[in-house]
Amino acid sequence: MSTIAKAIANKEDLLRIFPTEIRLMIFKELMTVDKDIYRGARSFGPLDSNEYDLVEGGAEVPWQILFTCQQYHDEAIPYMYSENTLIFCTGPAGSPGMFRKFPVKRKYMKYLRDVGIYFRADAPAGKGSQRVGHFINALTLRAKNLNELFVMAASDRYFERVCPWDIVDGGHPVAKALENMVLARAVKFLTIRVHDGAKFYKDWGYYMAQTFWENGGQDEDRNIAFQRSCSCPPLIYPECPVCLMPTLLRAVKPVVFWVGPDGIEANEEETMNMQADLFELGILPGYDDDDEEKGLEQGLKQDYTPIEDEEEEARKAFSSTIFAPEQKLKYRGVIKAPQVWKFRQTGIKEYMKPVEDDAYL
Ligand SMILES: [Zn+2]
Repeated sequence: MSTIAKAIANKEDLLRIFPTEIRLMIFKELMTVDKDIYRGARSFGPLDSNEYDLVEGGAEVPWQILFTCQQYHDEAIPYMYSENTLIFCTGPAGSPGMFRKFPVKRKYMKYLRDVGIYFRADAPAGKGSQRVGHFINALTLRAKNLNELFVMAASDRYFERVCPWDIVDGGHPVAKALENMVLARAVKFLTIRVHDGAKFYKDWGYYMAQTFWENGGQDEDRNIAFQRSCSCPPLIYPECPVCLMPTLLRAVKPVVFWVGPDGIEANEEETMNMQADLFELGILPGYDDDDEEKGLEQGLKQDYTPIEDEEEEARKAFSSTIFAPEQKLKYRGVIKAPQVWKFRQTGIKEYMKPVEDDAYL
């Protein structure tokens, strides 16, 4: 009886009999999904239905193989990250969503090739903003094979309107992280996209393009590009306030429009409007009724430094790693040292009396 026939008779795992090269080819075939894979797109908020269908949902990775055994997991997981385009989204109302923890473990970041990040444009100190910035910094450090990164800032101004801070300034953690990434030449193709009326600060688009060109240039192997998109907000508007397309054409409009670096930048009027909104809502700090100028200066500092992310580090050892949002650890007492730690090492002087200086003579 041949090995295979025996294995079949014993109902053994047949995949195991293949040479590793063949098995890897099978895993590559299995893990490669020909569509973009979205994580958190449903809770992210409106996307163009031509981009992501809320009813049908997105493509799924057949991840079940990863749970069969450690060896298959280790063989298959590099393909899951390297052969697919993975798009991670922040959650509703500016919450971190997929970024509450890193959506890709640090040790797997080296496999990543094509990544998308969709984030809600929100206050620089917002949890979502901080975490997305932190993730981009981690990609700069660890994703050494990163080929394409597309980052989308989205506004909710035509929808739930809970994140009024929808013009991303140069000191915003995401803007800073992208700048660092370009300076470190850590990405080959970078696309920056604004969605539903979100913008970046004036001159930031040009600054990024220039920084990219100065750090490695632009050719067929590396490029920076800018896009605008919209989900064509509710039908109360006769034409879309973002893309200006009439209602009738919404179904056939392209998902993205290619623009120049200034196409993602806010003009002065838009910036002033946002600042006015933020003051009205009492969001901008340091606002003083008597001194509006001073308030403006304090509110939108350009040299904002992101707060160090320490959620992972601050977590106590031996805790469960998975929490529902808002859930906290129930027991978090001070850790007491066990009795055994109190044993102290016997000093050598307790066995051997030190010889006094006089005794030598
Ligand atoms: Zn539109």
